[in-house]
Amino acid sequence: MVKCSVCGIRDAVVFQQHSGKALCRQCFIEDVTARTIAEIKRWKMFGPKNRLLLGLSGGKDSYVLLDILARIHPVSRILAVSIIEGIPRYNREEDIRRLKVVAREYGVDVIVTSIREYTGHSLAELVMRAWRKGKRISPCTYCGISRRRILNFYARMYGADKTVTAHNLDDEVQTAVVNLLRGDRIGLLRLHPAASPASKLIVPRVKPLRKIYEWESATYAYMKKFPLQETECMFIRYAPTLRARVRDMLYVIESRRPGTLLRILELLDEVLEEEARNLSPEALSRCKKCGEPTSPSRHLCKLCEILELADVQRPVYSVYYSENSDPA
Ligand code: SF4
Ligand code: ZN
Ligand code: ZN
Repeated sequence: MVKCSVCGIRDAVVFQQHSGKALCRQCFIEDVTARTIAEIKRWKMFGPKNRLLLGLSGGKDSYVLLDILARIHPVSRILAVSIIEGIPRYNREEDIRRLKVVAREYGVDVIVTSIREYTGHSLAELVMRAWRKGKRISPCTYCGISRRRILNFYARMYGADKTVTAHNLDDEVQTAVVNLLRGDRIGLLRLHPAASPASKLIVPRVKPLRKIYEWESATYAYMKKFPLQETECMFIRYAPTLRARVRDMLYVIESRRPGTLLRILELLDEVLEEEARNLSPEALSRCKKCGEPTSPSRHLCKLCEILELADVQRPVYSVYYSENSDPA
């Protein structure tokens, strides 16, 4: 049996291809934790006094995020939100019930809400309504835009300093490459950890696991025996094709040249830092329906727009957000 490259005492159970190290369970968990803490410090993601709003899905990454943050941040200043999308046979209620039990052991409260509670319709209903009208919008578009909005809504309501999400290295590099392929310069810059949000109405979002590979997060969650979600979303086959292709391509490159994903993100962090820091809030307008920020050329925000396509004219959340009259 190979011994751990770090402690040299225990048997190695994981081979970390990007570093060339063979690690025992304990040293692997310490390695992931240390790299997460280093990333938080490097970008000053938050300090001990900050109130954090964690978006937790019940997937592997969210357990890893919860486990690390609850060890390094005062739990009295952490609140979690979990969103039930409303997708048939995707046992989210059961997953979230288990997530709540684990979170309680760490002393973290979880608010459970749903896309239905926020918009008046479940995700499946929204998709069916849009499709009946001949609008072939991906369920992932409804899902992503709604979840992002709901998280920000709770972060603002809770008075959080930061919204914290469990995106891992694979997620981040996929998004960066999709932005590159689309020529979306602002999208790429806004992804940078030094960039501030486009509007004061958006609580800054941080991603402590952004340098942790997806397989590392899965291994960590498995080692810690977290009660992971087992069912797959039935809409996965409708995920945007460009992103799916980018994911497959990156997977092949990474398996041939281990460490590629880390090198891509490190390089982007370095070359984009100055421009990202100087990125000012955009002169956004406010959505005519809900008051949330939107680009100056649009009347409606993205969420109101896609809800209209699903023939939802008066969403439940249509409470005009007017606390801050400054549109930026
Ligand atoms: Fe949402 Fe798409 Fe993921 Fe399903 S596959 S949970 S619809 S983002
Ligand atoms: Zn070891
Ligand atoms: Zn709106």
